[in-house]
Amino acid sequence: MSTGEYSVMYHRLNRAPATASGLGARFLFLVVMLMATFPASAANPVRYVIHISVDGLRSDAITILGHSEAPNFYRLRAEGAFTDNARTDAHYLGTLPNHISQLTGRGVKGDSGHNYGDNRSPPRQRTLHSNKGVYIASVFDVVHDHGLSTALYAGKEKFQIFKQSYNRINGAPDKTGADDGRNKIDHYVYMEDSRKLVSNYINAMQSTPYHYSFLHLRDPDIAGHQHYWDVTPGSAYMAAVAEVDHLLGRVLDMVTNTPALSGHTVVIVTADHGGTYGSNHTILDSRKNYTIPFYVWGAGVPGGADLYAINSGTRLNPGNGRPLYTDPIQPIREGDAANLALDLLGLGPIEGSTINFAQDLTVFRKQAVSASKRKECIR
Ligand SMILES: [Zn+2]
Repeated sequence: MSTGEYSVMYHRLNRAPATASGLGARFLFLVVMLMATFPASAANPVRYVIHISVDGLRSDAITILGHSEAPNFYRLRAEGAFTDNARTDAHYLGTLPNHISQLTGRGVKGDSGHNYGDNRSPPRQRTLHSNKGVYIASVFDVVHDHGLSTALYAGKEKFQIFKQSYNRINGAPDKTGADDGRNKIDHYVYMEDSRKLVSNYINAMQSTPYHYSFLHLRDPDIAGHQHYWDVTPGSAYMAAVAEVDHLLGRVLDMVTNTPALSGHTVVIVTADHGGTYGSNHTILDSRKNYTIPFYVWGAGVPGGADLYAINSGTRLNPGNGRPLYTDPIQPIREGDAANLALDLLGLGPIEGSTINFAQDLTVFRKQAVSASKRKECIR
């Protein structure tokens, strides 16, 4: 058993349900956990999570392109669980604030928010923690602290805020098991050419796969800012979405064709914001700006499943609305991705996060025996 698997098990043992109080219940839980944990792969086939954010991707760009022009997005729809009606942060539409939500499980505003509203490349000394005044943990913290590996592949320079925040100086001390150090992101790559970025990423994943990796694809946003978010077939924006579809296909083929990854990997695809024809993505009340896709594909995820249908008790399809964080039932948000990724890896939520902190967003059909058993094992 690797250090990582040990600490995952340790973590699971410390996640006994609050109702399981008393020595007897704890002993019973321990027995159930041990039965479920050996071998770990039998209880949870997911060893790797690939989290992809497509900058500026509108959901309707996918459906307007259709199967013939976006075959890999359509592969995700046919073989995975998805919605075209997920939401950005409730108040901010900028790239960096929303990616910070994706990676920290927090909204932007308020006491529990990450409070990072600046969308420019950050000054060298700035971190998410110095901006907020307290440490902001991320998905990288939890994965790394459990002895598992992490990577961030970005297409924009401004993502260095993550490198600055989670490096060997500014990352928090390891909280769990063996001391894996403060540097939470094992490999950080910034490259503006998405084709090269993806080639670089695939080479790395085929040799020594990262347990959690984040891949940022910038092209639709760049095309949108240059030529507007024009979803007319043949537009520059639509060509960029089709190009991303091709890159996505390379990642999906990598998973399918790499024995270590196949059957053990889940891919999450979402976006930071959409955009409108005439005004980029700045207007908060435009549904074209705040409506984004959220697609999940891979080990154990049922094909063709509507994420709102299989999360009917915990998430509410917002229609055309822009729900606030105070709404009693939340929509599916890009910010769900961080704690979903951890849940898939059998790890608990990010300390201080608020979006999907309960890790109740499921990507498995509720009725499915394997899915419900899997949940029992982990919780
Ligand atoms: Zn963006």
